[in-house]
Amino acid sequence: MGQAVQKQATIGVLRETAEGERRVALDPPSVATLVKRGHAVLVEAGAGCQANLFDAAYELAGATIGSHSLVIEGCDVLAVVRAPVPTLYKKLRAGQLIVGLLDPLNNLQEIADLARRRVTAVAFELLPRTVSRAQSMDALSSQASAAGYRAAIVATEAYGRYLPMMITASGTATPAKVIVIGTGVAGLQAIATARRLGAVVTGYDVRAASRQEVESLGARFLTSSIAQGAGNGGYAAALTASEQAAQQEELSDALSAFDIIITTAKVPGRTPPVLVTSRTLDSLRPGSVCVDLGSSDRGGNVVGSIPQTTTVTPGGVTVIGAGELAADLPGSASQMYARNVVAVLASLLPNGTLAIDPADEIHRSIVVCADGEITAAVVRSALKLEPLASPAPETVLAS
Ligand code: NAD
Repeated sequence: MGQAVQKQATIGVLRETAEGERRVALDPPSVATLVKRGHAVLVEAGAGCQANLFDAAYELAGATIGSHSLVIEGCDVLAVVRAPVPTLYKKLRAGQLIVGLLDPLNNLQEIADLARRRVTAVAFELLPRTVSRAQSMDALSSQASAAGYRAAIVATEAYGRYLPMMITASGTATPAKVIVIGTGVAGLQAIATARRLGAVVTGYDVRAASRQEVESLGARFLTSSIAQGAGNGGYAAALTASEQAAQQEELSDALSAFDIIITTAKVPGRTPPVLVTSRTLDSLRPGSVCVDLGSSDRGGNVVGSIPQTTTVTPGGVTVIGAGELAADLPGSASQMYARNVVAVLASLLPNGTLAIDPADEIHRSIVVCADGEITAAVVRSALKLEPLASPAPETVLAS
């Protein structure tokens, strides 16, 4: 007797609605890959146009273009870039899967509500990034890379002076001094880009391990004498309040020598540490520029930085709140992000339908909720729920 063939999941992509967001979760080549795997793909009309990815290219790749509601109602899997607005969360139904940068630790109530309504959620932020199999799924890295690259360019545009040394018949320009605080993925890309633009660059981090990476890019390395903050998984550990105050004091003295400060310092699940204080801003020369990649509604690395906003201090220092700078490079950032989505879907839907394997370290980490249960340990802990006694049961998509 022949076996019934299970329908492959339909994948949906919407136009992102967050202010200033120009990325899209799938590009035409990634649609073609999914179609080749047997999936149907629904794309909201105009979803990619802000990244210069137009409906005709999606159609050519095998997608069906439709309205917002056609995509939501017709898809089994919704791929998004940013966490949805509340109205979209409410439209998701039992058995559907949503995958994206859902920022679960800052959207706990929304996640709890999705779990209650038996929606499955997958968050890139929870990927175990050091597992080599996970590297093709690492959206935090692909987007941090784009943001770091843009940070150096945005800073250069705002600076209004040459970055390299220029010796001309009309005079000599000294090279700009750039410091990048936080030398993870975004910071290293900012250093590499600022170096290519001709600046003299310094990298600063509390993790001593980043010295070699910074120096290999031809930049000077500076670290804190107060705290050696290496935590778990290559991330920084949170500093105590007194360590942070001492670090601010020490940094303030060092920072007044720089023309451009790019900050990318983050500690997972925490508010970013303030590293550029009012005293530091007051000590900078007029015309200096701070680009704050840590900037968010919860605060940033530069005191008073406002997300997605450029301000100028009374002393003439430009402060750019740039917490979502990858959205400023929408073509490349979407291309890389789409590859991450395709890789994650290949792992979670090995035969075309959702099959969460509780024994798989990647699945265990990135699946936030499934089968009506919050499964990610870190999210359970943030919601003050007891740890799960046994791994969540294997999940299949409702068809
Ligand atoms: P992140 O975005 O969490 O933080 C950015 C940087 O800020 C980090 O380098 C961190 O040490 C630094 N920082 C935090 N608090 C600070 C403070 N008070 N002062 C100065 N600097 C501070 O980091 P990320 O870019 O996501 O990378 C984190 C780590 O993960 C790095 O070690 C990176 O190499 C590693 N990583 C590994 C892989 C892999 O193995 N495939 C992939 C991605 C990242």
